Amino acid sequence: MLLVAALLAGCSGDGDTRSPRTPGDALADAGFPVFAPVLDGAKAASSTLSPDRVTSDYGDDRTLVQLAEPDDDLCAALVDVRLAGDTCEADRDSVTTSMEEMGGVGLVRDGTLLYWSGLVTEADPELVERAIRALREAPAASGDDLGDVTSATTTPVAPEQEPTQTEPPDEDPVDEPLAPDDLDVATAVATVRFLAGRVGPREATSAAHDRAARWVARCFTRLGYNADLRPVGVPAGVSWLGDAVPAGRSVNVVATPAGFDATEPHLVVGAHLDTVAQAPGAEDNASGVGVLLATAEAAAVRSTRLPVVFVAFGAEEPRGPGDDDHHFGSRSYVAALGPAESRAVRAMVSLDRVGVGARVPVGSADDSDPVQRSLLAAGRRAGVATIADQDQRSSDHWSFVRAGLPGARLGSTSYAAYHDASDVPSVVSPAQLERTGRLLLEWLAPR
Ligand SMILES: [Zn+2]
Repeated sequence: MLLVAALLAGCSGDGDTRSPRTPGDALADAGFPVFAPVLDGAKAASSTLSPDRVTSDYGDDRTLVQLAEPDDDLCAALVDVRLAGDTCEADRDSVTTSMEEMGGVGLVRDGTLLYWSGLVTEADPELVERAIRALREAPAASGDDLGDVTSATTTPVAPEQEPTQTEPPDEDPVDEPLAPDDLDVATAVATVRFLAGRVGPREATSAAHDRAARWVARCFTRLGYNADLRPVGVPAGVSWLGDAVPAGRSVNVVATPAGFDATEPHLVVGAHLDTVAQAPGAEDNASGVGVLLATAEAAAVRSTRLPVVFVAFGAEEPRGPGDDDHHFGSRSYVAALGPAESRAVRAMVSLDRVGVGARVPVGSADDSDPVQRSLLAAGRRAGVATIADQDQRSSDHWSFVRAGLPGARLGSTSYAAYHDASDVPSVVSPAQLERTGRLLLEWLAPR
C-alpha cells in the first residue's frame, strides 16, 4: 500500500508513513540544495522530506515543493505534485501552471526545482510576481527554516514506476485478498477537503464539476485504472429551493481495472460528484467520492471477489420534482449497457452521504433485497454498526434497480447542513468514512 499511497499523494493528500525528525537532521537527509523562500511574510510552517524532495506547508493551502534534479521536462517532473493543474508551460529553467483561478509557478536553482502551488491568482493578480521573486531571492535553508519536519519513510518510487506513466503501479499478480484493514481513510478525508474545501459547489453542468471530474479521473489513472470521461446531457430545470439550473453537459468518470471485460460478471461501486448549486457538498457527496477513491486505492493492489468498476456519477441532484428529473448520470450509464453487459452487473452500490452518523445506513429500494442483505452481512463480519433503510430510492442505485439490475445504497443519515452552504468538510466525520469504507471492502473481498 505504501507505493500506492505515494502515487496517490498528488491527488488526495499524502499517505506516507512518517517518523519525527529534528530540524537539524533535515538538510543532511535531503542531500541536495534546499532553499527557504519567504512569501508575503510567511515561512514554512512544516515540511516533509523524502530522498528527492522537500514539501513545505506555508498556510492558506500554499505549498512549496523542492525537487532534486528534475527532468528536463519540468511539466513532466511536476506531474505528481501539481495537484490538479490543467495547463503547464515550461522552458529549461521555469514553469507556470494554471487551473481556473489557481496557479503555480516554479524555477530551477542549483539543480533544484522550487515550485509553489496553491496560489489563488484570480484574487491577487500580482501574487505570481511576488512568488517568483521569493523563489529567486530565497537564501539556502538551514534546518530551522523548514518548520516542523517529518521524513517520509517510504521507499522512493523506482524510475520505471514513476507516476507519469499510466500502467498499473504493480505489475505482479495481485493475489493478496482485499480486507477491511486495507482502507486508508486519509485518502477519503483528503478528497473531502479538496472537493468541498477547494473546488466548492459543483452543479452538474458547471466548470467546477468538470474540474472535479478531471481530478477524479487523474486519481484513478494514477492508481492504475483506465479512466474514461463520459458526457451526460442534462436538461434545464429547477433544483433545490427553486434554483434554476441550465441545460448542458455533465460527465461520468468511469474507472475500470486493466483487462476489464464488461460482459463478464462484475460489481459497480458509484458515488455522485455533483452538488446542488448552493452547497460545497462535503457530506453530499464528497464523502461518497472520498470512500470511492479510498476503496479503489485498496482494490488496486488486492484481489476482489469479482472485478470492480468505480464510477463518479454526474448529475444525480434533482432538476425537477419527478423520478425522471434526477440521477441523470447513473441512468445514462445503465442505458448505455448492452444486454450482455447488463447481465454482467452482479450488484451496484451507491455511496451517497457516508460521513455523518455512527451507524452506516444500508438502503434497499424496496422492502429488502439480496444486495442489501449481503451488505448488512458484510457489516457484521467487519464489525461495523449498520441500520437497514427500506424504500430508499434517493440515489444512483435506483437507476440500476428500476432497470432490473441489483443495487443498494450506503449512507443517508440526516444532518443540518443538507443542501446548504454550510455543508463544509468539518461536517464529515472521518470515523464514519472509515466505517463505510471498511464495510465496503469486506463486501468486495473474496470469500
Ligand atoms: Zn447526494
